[in-house]
Amino acid sequence: MESFDVIIVGAGISGIGAAVHLKRRCPGKTFAVLEGREAIGGTWDLFRYPGIRSDSDMHTLGYNFKPWKNPNAIADGPTIRAYVKEAADEYGIVPHIRFKHFVRRLSWSSADALWTVEADHDGRAVPFTARYVMMCAGYYRYSAGYTPEFAGVSRFKGTLIHPQFWREDIDYAGKRVIVIGSGATAVTLVPAMADKAAHVTMLQRSPTYIVSLPAADAIANWLRKHLPLSLAYRLTRWKNVVLQLIFFNATRAFPEQTRKRLLKLIREQLGPEYDLAHFTPRYNPWDERLCVIPNNDLFAAIKAGKVSIVTDHIDTFTETGLKLRTGRELEADIIITATGLELQFAGGAEVRVDERPIETGMAVLYKGIMFSGAPNLASVFGYTNASWTLRADLLAEYFCRLINFMDAHAYVEARPKEPEATMPVKPFGNLKSGYFKRAEGRLPRVGTKGPWRNPQNYAFDIFRFRFAAIDDGILEFRRACDSRVPETLPEALAEASQTDYARS
Ligand SMILES: Cc1cc2nc3c(=O)[nH]c(=O)nc-3n(C[C@H](O)[C@H](O)[C@H](O)COP(=O)(O)OP(=O)(O)OC[C@H]3O[C@@H](n4cnc5c(N)ncnc54)[C@H](O)[C@@H]3O)c2cc1C
Repeated sequence: MESFDVIIVGAGISGIGAAVHLKRRCPGKTFAVLEGREAIGGTWDLFRYPGIRSDSDMHTLGYNFKPWKNPNAIADGPTIRAYVKEAADEYGIVPHIRFKHFVRRLSWSSADALWTVEADHDGRAVPFTARYVMMCAGYYRYSAGYTPEFAGVSRFKGTLIHPQFWREDIDYAGKRVIVIGSGATAVTLVPAMADKAAHVTMLQRSPTYIVSLPAADAIANWLRKHLPLSLAYRLTRWKNVVLQLIFFNATRAFPEQTRKRLLKLIREQLGPEYDLAHFTPRYNPWDERLCVIPNNDLFAAIKAGKVSIVTDHIDTFTETGLKLRTGRELEADIIITATGLELQFAGGAEVRVDERPIETGMAVLYKGIMFSGAPNLASVFGYTNASWTLRADLLAEYFCRLINFMDAHAYVEARPKEPEATMPVKPFGNLKSGYFKRAEGRLPRVGTKGPWRNPQNYAFDIFRFRFAAIDDGILEFRRACDSRVPETLPEALAEASQTDYARS
């Protein structure tokens, strides 16, 4: 059985970033990255649908250690994939990656102060051990997307596909396309397919807030021309972080004014005749993730008559398309179900601590990174209201700080204790989007005070992860020679473990 100091699960943006932070901040530590697929890049390698792109700027979706040099701040999938690969090459991470190792089980032994990580590799179970595990496995299932149950699906004679499983051989030139959905994927796909397709219809049950941003950030490009690269990158990141924070908080404080402003911008693009009901959601801005489009591309395609938006419910699929509840029929050669992702935490792996299962849906997250009761385990999850990597970088830095702190004090275990039973808890993620609601019972919860909160605020997180004391009375530390058994162990296990601790 191979042993490492640290195992990182996942070679997407977060896993590669975590490996770089670990190499730079904990240079003596041995580590491996276990990746279930055969490629680096995660999301940016998996999704291949037409037009795949980021919907936040790459100056904040990029790493804090690697400037984004491309003139486009909103970038396409292949460019982001190349950036992540380049980071892995530049920092010598590639030789540490074990591809096709899909992690099924993590088991912590308090007696040995070790995780056993079991991965599927070519049909075999391969075990590893590690002192620390960082789960960088993203937030959704790779093997399945979410598709609601539609009546009559089997009757449809055309091509039906979920964007997660787009195939390069799908030829949509001159075809009538329906995209079901109104989220980030739908608003990316629709204008991207409009040029080649005969017509694209975006069929939505309910609208989403949409805002257009320039694909290229003129200030960032000017700064890069006139200042050293890393300074220009840092200034641009801070500009964008501050603007996003102001916009998000203003939106939450003044929802009605924001709604009017967003609709006015769309009205300017689509003209006085267009029915803005298609862009007027029932909820307040940022109750659900706001969709960003580059350079008004969706609105331009609507104006050109290549795209239409229909707001209605599906009654049934037919041989030739869809019948809607209002009785209207839509004909299509290709129907794309951009209906969402299936959320999942910790890569779907089973987590056990001294044989006791940790139910992710029951655990409360400490600082939004560690499960209550689970030692030496980080779960990296980005922001839902800002770029993912801003938070992924901070979490990786914090975990390196924790490892160095434990080394300095000869600790072998750091375990967030269970929060007080009286503290109110709420579901993880501050969005009311359907995919969060569907997964509520499976996602960990967050608390309402102290380190149990997860306020989705980068400025607050910088203080909390970079500067706040590691030993805060909530993380419980243990040395190898300690016979103290953490309060969190059930009584029978505690008794058995007393002997193990004494022995170790
Ligand atoms: C289409 C799309 C567009 C997006 N656009 C943006 C955006 O513009 N801005 C933004 O901030 N966020 C965006 N997101 C969210 C996005 O997923 C994150 O920004 C980021 O890519 C997540 O990186 P990650 O490495 O944490 O996870 P992922 O990219 O999901 O990578 C996880 C990796 O872990 C591997 N893995 C999973 N489970 C296991 C396991 N059990 N064992 C071994 N390996 C495992 C996977 O194979 C994968 O390689 C988008 C998401 C999607 C789906």
